Order: sequence, then C-alpha cells, then structure tokens
Amino acid sequence: MTTSNQTCFKCGLDFYCQSLAGETTCWCMALPALPKDQVSPDQGCLCQKCLKEQTDNQLSKLPIL
Ligand SMILES: [Zn+2]
Repeated sequence: MTTSNQTCFKCGLDFYCQSLAGETTCWCMALPALPKDQVSPDQGCLCQKCLKEQTDNQLSKLPIL
C-alpha cells in the first residue's frame, strides 16, 4: 500500500514522494531535471503527470541540435 505524503502544488493531487520518505531514489529523478529557475524551494514536488507536462514543455522549447 502506498501512502501519499506530498500534494502536487499545481493540481492538488496527493501522491507519494520516495525522496521525502527518506529513500535515495524517486520516480521524479528518472525525468529530466528542470532548470533551477523553474523550481522554487517552497513549491514542493509536482505529481507525476504535472512534472511530465512541465518537462515536456521545457524540452519542446529547447532548440534541436
Ligand atoms: Zn499535479
């Protein structure tokens, strides 16, 4: 059973953050990191769906080399 310990600051969905639970890895680490200016310390984590959306958004803005 998975207990949620985080609330997505964007959509309000409760989800489980392994990192917050003291584990060394979390599913969010498998996604590309967002630029530091896209992340504020007080905003907390995003749920899987919103984080994916945000990273997709970011990546689509990058020039394709
Ligand atoms: Zn969300």
